[in-house]
Amino acid sequence: MIEIIRAKSAGFCFGVERIVKMAEALTQQPAGPVYCLGELIHNPQEVERIRAQGMRFITGPDELPPLAPGQQARVLIRAHGVAPQVKRAITERGYQLSDGTCPLVTIPHQFARKLVQDGYRLVIMGHREHPEIQGILGELADLPEGRVDVVSGPEELERLELRAGDRVGLISQTTHPYERFARLVGEVLARTLEVRAYNTICQATSERQGATLALAKEVPLLIVVGGRRSSNTNRLVEIASLYTECYHLEDAAELKKEWFNGVEKVGIAAGASTPERSIQEVELTIRALVGDG
Ligand code: SF4
Repeated sequence: MIEIIRAKSAGFCFGVERIVKMAEALTQQPAGPVYCLGELIHNPQEVERIRAQGMRFITGPDELPPLAPGQQARVLIRAHGVAPQVKRAITERGYQLSDGTCPLVTIPHQFARKLVQDGYRLVIMGHREHPEIQGILGELADLPEGRVDVVSGPEELERLELRAGDRVGLISQTTHPYERFARLVGEVLARTLEVRAYNTICQATSERQGATLALAKEVPLLIVVGGRRSSNTNRLVEIASLYTECYHLEDAAELKKEWFNGVEKVGIAAGASTPERSIQEVELTIRALVGDG
């Protein structure tokens, strides 16, 4: 009999649960079509489920069709948030907004503004193309120009050409690993006069990373369930792969029987955008594959 251990913290976080409920509620409303700007969450199965309920998906405000006089329609902003300019472009087209930006995503926005206003050279740890970072950069657009850089981690510091007299402000994308951010802060301080850093990494992210790390040290095989485009899920795979054999899958159908040959204990971890249903399916499928159903 195989022992299956689930990470102590896995699956939907508060922000994802909230946006999925908002999307479901909006598709039940009779008042006009509802569009979602971008993928609702980085989980293809969940996006398809919401699409089947009537949600329409667009990649930018330009794709919104013109509204007839008196016609009502709504656009849902997903948990990652968007730049204020994008919200304006939507309302200027006559659409109503339902803003599902996770309240924790707006915290880096506030700190970024404060750091630039206080004259710090801003360094953001994250992926420039990620909507969360685009949202932060958009928030700064109305401020007088200051230097703002986005780096994926401490390895990229050289290209910033920091000087000894620089005053540097640091924030992070909410889903990045705390250890990398702490290293970045230390390495910037070693090169400059002053550092002001805000820990903007979301607690749900830290908890899932900590739980995955602990489990990876305990099991010979760990399955991480979550979307391949999910930033926080990919971080879990990176962390787990340092300590154990790890497979990343979006769906239980990807499980292979041979992975479990001779394995007595397997761990399951899941990103913040992975529904409970997918985690349970993976557990049941593993049991079926090893004849333990
Ligand atoms: S991971 Fe954190 S910041 Fe992102 S949606 Fe979930 S609770 Fe909000």
